[in-house]
Amino acid sequence: MGLFNRKRRDAPPPPTYAQQLAEYATAGSPALTARSDFVKKSACTQCGGTKQLPSVTAYVYCDYCGALMDFDFRLANSGTNAGLTNTVYHHLAAPWQASMNNARARGDADGFRMCMRAIYTEWVRQCPQAVSPRCANDEDFRERMITYLVESATSKEMDPRQQPLEAEMQMRVNSLVRVPMGPNAWRVANGFWEMAKLYKRQMEMAYAHMAETGVLALDPDQAPAGVPLRMEYSIYCQAWLPHLSPEEGERLLELYGLTGSYEKYEEIDTRSTQCGGCGMHLMTVPGASAVICDGCGRKLDIGGGSSPCPGCSAPLAFPVGVNQLPCPYCGTATARA
Ligand SMILES: [Zn+2]
Ligand SMILES: [Zn+2]
Ligand SMILES: [Zn+2]
Repeated sequence: MGLFNRKRRDAPPPPTYAQQLAEYATAGSPALTARSDFVKKSACTQCGGTKQLPSVTAYVYCDYCGALMDFDFRLANSGTNAGLTNTVYHHLAAPWQASMNNARARGDADGFRMCMRAIYTEWVRQCPQAVSPRCANDEDFRERMITYLVESATSKEMDPRQQPLEAEMQMRVNSLVRVPMGPNAWRVANGFWEMAKLYKRQMEMAYAHMAETGVLALDPDQAPAGVPLRMEYSIYCQAWLPHLSPEEGERLLELYGLTGSYEKYEEIDTRSTQCGGCGMHLMTVPGASAVICDGCGRKLDIGGGSSPCPGCSAPLAFPVGVNQLPCPYCGTATARA
């Protein structure tokens, strides 16, 4: 009896819906994990640097200046092409659907926001790989990220100009023909291009509206201009690529201005940096001035060099704006050199 109780107390928490899905998907078809040797090869709009190092979450930050650059859908979905995080989102949104429809019909933006906040708060918790690593340990950043997601969705959903476009989108989605391809992902047969062009129009309108109404300014990453829309396009294209022939895939990337954005990962010259915030060993590229730590999400000053801990001599990279910190290895107070 005692043993039974102890076992029950020590049992790990039940897996989240997102974890169950990831386990199911990664145990499945090899078609889902195609392209896994490729890194997202974007150029930074802030400093011009090209992405060299693999990213740990779907939020791709510049290796040179730490600016947000792009979104990697494959990384958001446990290394698969399946839209796991979309499925988690729909699962979490289902109980709120009636309230959201009501709020939309009444033009009640605050009611809509309330539903979105409940959904996104749980989605960010269950899908850490789909959001910035900066959310992991920085509560203020995470809250601002949730607010930004909520306001983005509210802005689009409550814009009356979007409603006829959304109605047309629903009609087009419902009439798409999905052709089974044996063990591979299904292919889309007709009506795809009208839908892809319509989505582009919807997003162009949504992001122009978000810029005008100050929603984009809420982005806690302060992404360079054009990056949030590009991230939206990346998500869309990466979700559809497995369902198109290679030629159609190229055409889609061209339509969205994303041609050549994946390349095979090759070993490059890197150096090791130790994060003064969390102690993680990071690879950095020569010439980097700032990077986002994969472990704790802090933006680290790399250009200024490292500062040795007086206790254990570990060379620590200081977070931007921090001049004093306890060494993450031995606890000794360390000042920026
Ligand atoms: Zn950069
Ligand atoms: Zn760190
Ligand atoms: Zn130390």
